[in-house]
Amino acid sequence: MRKLTFMNCIQCNKLFRTRPSYVKAGNGKFCSRKCFRIYRISNREKINYACGSRRPMWKGNHVGYKCLHKWINRWYGKADKCDNPNCSHESKRFHWANKTGKYLRDINDWIKLCSSCHAKFDKINIGRSRDWHGRWF
Ligand SMILES: [Zn+2]
Ligand SMILES: [Zn+2]
Repeated sequence: MRKLTFMNCIQCNKLFRTRPSYVKAGNGKFCSRKCFRIYRISNREKINYACGSRRPMWKGNHVGYKCLHKWINRWYGKADKCDNPNCSHESKRFHWANKTGKYLRDINDWIKLCSSCHAKFDKINIGRSRDWHGRWF
C-alpha cells in the first residue's frame, strides 16, 4: 500500500504529494530538489548567524541546544500539538522535546510535546529513551 500525504513545500509553498514515511524520516519538505537547494542556500547564512558560531555545536551544550531549537523551528515550524498518544490535553502550550538526549539535527530525534507531557517525558526519559522511543513509534 502506498499511502500518500500532502505537504506544503517550505520554499515555494506549493502543495505536493509525498510518502508519510519520508515525512517521518525528516524529508518531504520540498516539492523538488530545486526548492530544497534554494532554501538551503538562502537560509544557511541566517542559521549560522543565529547560532553565533561557525563551529557545529549541536551536541549537548547550552549553545548547541538553543541552536537546535532555532533549527527545528525553522525547518519544522513551531510545535503546535502533542505527539504523546496518551496526552491528557491539560496544556495548550507546546514545545519541541529531544527524545534521546543526543540533540541530533535529525527530526527523528525530536518530538512535539505539550508542556505537561514534556515535564513527564523529561523525567521518564532519563536513562530509558529507547523504551520511550520504541513505544511511541
Ligand atoms: Zn517547492
Ligand atoms: Zn501532551
